[in-house]
Amino acid sequence: MSKLAIVTGAGQGIGEGIARRLVKDDYAIAVADINDETAQKVAADLTAQGYQARAYHVDVAQRQEVFDLVQKAVTDLGELALFVNNAGIAFIDSFVDSAPDDVERLLDVNLKGTYWGIQAAATQFKKQGHGGRIVNAASLAGYEASALQSAYSASKFGIRGLTQSAAKELAADQITVNAYNPGIVRTKMRDAIDAKTAAIKGKTVPAQQASCLAEIPLGREGTPADVAEVVAWFASDAAKYVTGQSLQVDGGMRFH
Ligand code: NAD
Repeated sequence: MSKLAIVTGAGQGIGEGIARRLVKDDYAIAVADINDETAQKVAADLTAQGYQARAYHVDVAQRQEVFDLVQKAVTDLGELALFVNNAGIAFIDSFVDSAPDDVERLLDVNLKGTYWGIQAAATQFKKQGHGGRIVNAASLAGYEASALQSAYSASKFGIRGLTQSAAKELAADQITVNAYNPGIVRTKMRDAIDAKTAAIKGKTVPAQQASCLAEIPLGREGTPADVAEVVAWFASDAAKYVTGQSLQVDGGMRFH
């Protein structure tokens, strides 16, 4: 059996890009997502290309589902080497108008979901007894104030805290914990953010996208593949002495 990487939110976007990159480093991939249809499509496509991949249903907000995911994937695909807490959701709204259900769901998925992922992965790594890698999706919004994205920003600040705290605590077990901070990566999440932001600001979507693009020194939006390279590096042997770090993958937008 090969080494196993579990990637949450791997049915589309950045998570899909991570799954497609990691197979090239000989991982068997658990394509885990709340959306069964997209997860199965990605897993089937990777399998058709001769890679080892399998789709799993998970709602990362449900602690037991995350633990069950780890157990099922280990049984099916082998020893866990890497857990990528990529699944996340976003919404744009003002403090005053944000719906309580939206705020609670966002914190449940992004912040608690990442907590459960670290907990489930660390439990498995300790059982296996020879270390492991955890990589979390943070964001530029985890470093600086984001008007109209307060709950999202709070969740990403929190993920940075979780990354650093888990890195300190789990280092004794040779488990590294790092994070990636995408800037602007064109995915369905980004399309939705741009549409809502444009509507609130009374701009057209192309005008909103142009003002975001103007903030990127490297002159283009990021791709899931750009982010996936950083995840592959954090997972690699080359990064074995790196832990508790968050790396900007943003074309030079910010230097934190
Ligand atoms: P996306 O919306 O395109 O994809 C997210 C995936 O996560 C989807 O497949 C979705 O079904 C899945 N998902 C959502 N809730 C889930 C849950 N409860 N359990 C399991 N799976 C769930 O988003 P994306 O742009 O690919 O973002 C991926 C990660 O990167 C997120 O954590 C996001 O916050 C972060 N990020 C993205 C950007 C960007 O510009 N796209 C920027 C900064 C950070």
